Amino acid sequence: MANIIPKVPIAKNEPILSYSSGSKEKKEVLEQYKALFENPVEIKMRIGDKDVKTGDTSPMCPPHDHQHKLGFYHKANKKNIETAIDCALEAKKKWSKMPWESRAAIFLKAANLVAGPYRSKINAATMIAQSKTIYQAEIDAACEFIDFLRFNVQFMSDIYEKQPDNTPEIWNRLEYRPLEGFVYAISPFNFTAIAGNLPASAALMGNVVVWKPSDYQIYSAKILMDVFRESGLPDGVINMVFGEAEMITDTILESKDFSGLHFTGSTHVFRDIWRKIGNNINRYRSYPKIVGETGGKDFVVAHPSADPKEVATAVVRGAFEFQGQKCSAASRIYLPKSIGDEVIRYIKSDLKTISMGSPENFKNFITAVIHKEAFDRIVETINRIKESQNAKIVFGGNYNDKEGFFIEPTVVLTEDPQYETMSRELFGPLVTIYCFEDKNWIQTLKLIDQTSEYALTGAIFSKDRYALEEALSLLENSAGNIYINDKPTGAIVGQQPFGGARGSGTNDKAGSIFNLIKWVSPRLIKESFLPVSNYRYPFLEE
Ligand code: NAD
Repeated sequence: MANIIPKVPIAKNEPILSYSSGSKEKKEVLEQYKALFENPVEIKMRIGDKDVKTGDTSPMCPPHDHQHKLGFYHKANKKNIETAIDCALEAKKKWSKMPWESRAAIFLKAANLVAGPYRSKINAATMIAQSKTIYQAEIDAACEFIDFLRFNVQFMSDIYEKQPDNTPEIWNRLEYRPLEGFVYAISPFNFTAIAGNLPASAALMGNVVVWKPSDYQIYSAKILMDVFRESGLPDGVINMVFGEAEMITDTILESKDFSGLHFTGSTHVFRDIWRKIGNNINRYRSYPKIVGETGGKDFVVAHPSADPKEVATAVVRGAFEFQGQKCSAASRIYLPKSIGDEVIRYIKSDLKTISMGSPENFKNFITAVIHKEAFDRIVETINRIKESQNAKIVFGGNYNDKEGFFIEPTVVLTEDPQYETMSRELFGPLVTIYCFEDKNWIQTLKLIDQTSEYALTGAIFSKDRYALEEALSLLENSAGNIYINDKPTGAIVGQQPFGGARGSGTNDKAGSIFNLIKWVSPRLIKESFLPVSNYRYPFLEE
């Protein structure tokens, strides 16, 4: 195997299955859903070659049926975390020396397992644990995760191919070493694909990882771990731990071998971790690489030339799919007064046809929000709006947590462009609209740029090319992913590398070469074929 320069399979986006009535995939996923739902599980941590129980447990419940128990998971103590670090460092001795094509083969096999035998299971688990409709589960847990795995292998090979120039006497080689130490991956609840990609991308590049999934995604995280193991990932390369986030993080950040953070989650948590890393900087062997993709306050802005129906559709899909719990979800909308009423009418008439309930019922477009804390946060905001002089609810505003954490898709209209729901991330099925005078197009673009601390995604609707150019220029730093005449959600790996700047993160573009490059530390090897044996340069001669 040593004497080859392998070519990796060319990555293509995984086709999205339809789950239409009578389809094989619909039957399979519903059977899986039922089987998982009715059979409670005990989820152990995976540390080195052991499934670890501590007896300190927490229950897991579907957000759309919060009294139903899916089982429970075991939580780590400090010793478990120290052991996870030791196991990772031990595994590194062999893993970092494994030929890269063997690492690639493991993750390509994982992609194929998810595309095939695990597809209905990972989708059903995501529907149950994170209350995703089948479509939202399919584009996340199946397709996006498969794409991350396949494209990252291609990006890895692109990185390794990048080599410096040579001369006939000197051969220069760049060796892409994994980081010295281990990587800490912390993942959010809202995307199973992100949960899998955070540890997998670092591991693919030869690193070892301690991975802490969100408490609200452990149910589907366990299946990701099963996939990694069945793909042949050696023990200790990815160690999966659960429990108290601060204790786990503090223990990890105390280690001199901590060499990288791969985080996705909220801005305040990321800032807190960054601060702790800074405070510990003298402990570390190397400067840790820090990658964090965080919150958003994503906008849609329409020019008077925009098509009202297209704008309304972007708002309905962009704001309410997965209950607005996407970092990229449209949550502040800027409409010119000339088309504002028409857009709002279309939005309302679409929302009237939307039904809400369990993801098991395929008629439902939206389901429950993730947990009680999220429910309470959104309900308090809705109640404040109901009392406010500065904003009014023009659609929705009802909620009910008797069985699940259900909140109606809610549309708010405000005349105050700085109103709290125009500037702060809420992360729920609520969108706020501000209508501006048509003649104030340029001022409105400046307003969008200055209203929020975030800069993740945004969408511009216009049929006027000059207006589009004005918007692209004035909103240059307002979003890391900007969409023209399209909704601001639904980035596809390999097509729209994803990430934002300002308060939205380090913008290392998940699912791209820019992200993978963070998990290596290149070593330059210069070899001279004709070593010089006289220190004197020609200019020293008389
Ligand atoms: P969260 O910040 O509550 O949790 C994210 C992870 O951090 C979880 O594993 C959690 O247990 C852990 N965590 C929480 N407190 C911690 C602490 N004090 N120290 C260390 N770790 C801690 O976020 P969430 O609710 O799971 O996800 C929603 C957030 O994630 C939103 O802000 C959303 O915008 C963001 N997000 C961003 C992207 C992106 O690509 N930019 C993608 C998905 C989600």
